[in-house]
Amino acid sequence: AFLTFEGIDGSGKSTQSRLLAEALRQEGHDVLLTREPGGSAGAEEIRSLLLHGDPDRWSAETELLLFTAARRDHVERTITPALEAGKIVICDRFVDSTRAYQGITRGDLRSKVDTLHALMIGLEPDLTFLIDINPNIALARASKRVGSEARFENFGIELQATLRAGFLNLAHRARRFRVLAGNRPEAEVHSDVLTYARKFLGH
Ligand code: C5P
Repeated sequence: AFLTFEGIDGSGKSTQSRLLAEALRQEGHDVLLTREPGGSAGAEEIRSLLLHGDPDRWSAETELLLFTAARRDHVERTITPALEAGKIVICDRFVDSTRAYQGITRGDLRSKVDTLHALMIGLEPDLTFLIDINPNIALARASKRVGSEARFENFGIELQATLRAGFLNLAHRARRFRVLAGNRPEAEVHSDVLTYARKFLGH
């Protein structure tokens, strides 16, 4: 099974991915926890290109190709082998992040995102948790992270509000989404995530 977490910067995705992985491992599942951009040696190299340096040195289209290249490597080298070995794969961000970030924030590239995904990747998650949260709350959290690798150029309330709406729009169009209110204590969000995950996994 392939489970993903999505949401704006500071929504709590990474924490919730980790908590779900730990809980499912305790229940005896073989779990691979991974993240994007990154998740394989090659994709982590592309991640550092994307997160460091002048963000405007590439056009929106070139940036989309880099994210897609990173995802292709991640899927080939990490995700597909784990799924074939029968593991539960939990990924912190996947193509829905590209549909939102690269798809709508620097012009409308949505159809290019979908075409590239169909051509080069094809894999869609089985279940996606969207942690929905007010950007004001999320950004206060995201800016406090110590040693984090964020794209600070993304840290604007208006941009994050656009992303939030974009994610909600994706969630309304595909049945694999579960939308969770993220402005609650970690443990509460986790408990909802675990309930949905158990139901999906059939126990
Ligand atoms: O999720 P994480 O914090 O690791 O993402 C790192 C940075 O990359 C974030 O600041 C996020 O805004 C950005 N990002 C992006 N496009 C994506 C995924 C992440 O701009 N598709």
